Amino acid sequence: MMGHQPQSQEKLFYTRFNLSQRIPKNHILRKISNMVDFDFVYKEVKDKYGYNGNISVPPPVILKLMFLLIFYNVRSERDLMSTLPFRLDWLWFLDYDLDDEIPNHSVLSKARTRWGVSTFQCFFERIVMQCVQAGLVDGSNLFMDSSNIQADASNNSVVNTHDIKRYLKKSYQLFEDRLEKENNQSDDDHIDPPKTGSANSKYLSTTDPDASVQRQGGGRSKLKYKVHRGVDGKHEIITATSVSTGSVNEAHLLKPLLLEHEKTTGLKAQSCVADSKYGIIANYLACHDLGLKGHFASFEKAHRGSGRQKDIFPKENFVYNPGTDSFTCPEGEELKRRRFSKQRRYWEYTALPTVCRNCRSFSRCTRSKTGRSLKRHERQEDLDHMLLESESKESLKDIRTRQYLMERSFARSTRYGFKRARWRRLWRVKIQEYLTAAIQNVMVFVQHVKEPEATKAVANRKPEKSNGTGQFILQFLALFTTKSISKNLLHVPAG
Ligand code: SF4
Repeated sequence: MMGHQPQSQEKLFYTRFNLSQRIPKNHILRKISNMVDFDFVYKEVKDKYGYNGNISVPPPVILKLMFLLIFYNVRSERDLMSTLPFRLDWLWFLDYDLDDEIPNHSVLSKARTRWGVSTFQCFFERIVMQCVQAGLVDGSNLFMDSSNIQADASNNSVVNTHDIKRYLKKSYQLFEDRLEKENNQSDDDHIDPPKTGSANSKYLSTTDPDASVQRQGGGRSKLKYKVHRGVDGKHEIITATSVSTGSVNEAHLLKPLLLEHEKTTGLKAQSCVADSKYGIIANYLACHDLGLKGHFASFEKAHRGSGRQKDIFPKENFVYNPGTDSFTCPEGEELKRRRFSKQRRYWEYTALPTVCRNCRSFSRCTRSKTGRSLKRHERQEDLDHMLLESESKESLKDIRTRQYLMERSFARSTRYGFKRARWRRLWRVKIQEYLTAAIQNVMVFVQHVKEPEATKAVANRKPEKSNGTGQFILQFLALFTTKSISKNLLHVPAG
């Protein structure tokens, strides 16, 4: 027999509704809620709130809201808040009920300013440690790479600071004052000093002064930031991350990432795997001093034979003589030690200019008019050892693995809106990256850990919101005794 839809009337009470039961047992937010402890933030931000005044939205709720914002790649915080009332899973995740008041979207931006980067860094580090404790991190191989992300600013906001200084001194002063004020307000250790000394320092975005103008692939210049990551080889857990302006060379971030990996995991890496952009002398020596293998190709070797060095004798054609501390060139002439570069820490070796100029191989040996010169670092033995190691079979295998492993790590981030900064200024982009990296790690954790390790988190959670008919009667009675309506039971429509 066909059923007929009865004429609906707005209900005053819902007796057969249970928010928790509406969330499937295998819902991803249920798993995350069981495995991740958000309550740690109470302790973390305790000192950042006053002792009187308005009562704030509970910090774990704010952290969860930011988690949802990135996890579902919601376009804006306004969108998040307007969607929240009709997303039962989100409400359950936040420990909210149907009739709870939804906070204003501005609480998120206020909390970011109040908490600073350190709170989000702590959240990321806690997730990494949870992964280590679950055996998801091996710690021995650290893979590294960087990726550009677009700043939340238009190219039209870029101005030539030199012009402004010259022609619009007053307005430029106002702009600088604003920057100064913003920097003081954010009061964060993680804010890097403004970029100086580069061509980029000439151009500045008035919308996001921390972003730098970058050209990529011969296309149009854009405002960019750069995300640097260290990923563990076992389950691709991100163990170290950092954000810089787009103009920073990734090679300079190798050592900080290695140290961060050690700090977050408590494990010492045995090898560091990266591409040839990281293959600079400072990085080989840093790996040597830290006692690990540097599995990355030499930048100098990778670019040898191009530009001015095209079709000239490679360095390997010259033989070093330790006894006399000199080189012998392919024509049998001696190149002696001449001068020391204090800044770059190497010795320069040359033959007499007259010898080179009269040499029959001059055009195949050098482009310089004064003759060929060779450089030898003051720690060349250590460097040679590291370079030899970087060409081993094990290293080449790691370098091949790195290529797809790092590509995958950044590709997975795109589903969380990684390719574009949500907010302006470097410290806010760092917050975004810590949240994104933490979420990626949480997803690996949820996938591989069947039994929740974070039993403490579960224990801290409020009891399940179960309110069948029996409970309804009990709580309805309580309504008359305590004059309070249980939030978990009744949904009273507005008006
Ligand atoms: S140019 Fe100078 S360094 Fe080069 S092969 Fe001739 S003599 Fe030797």
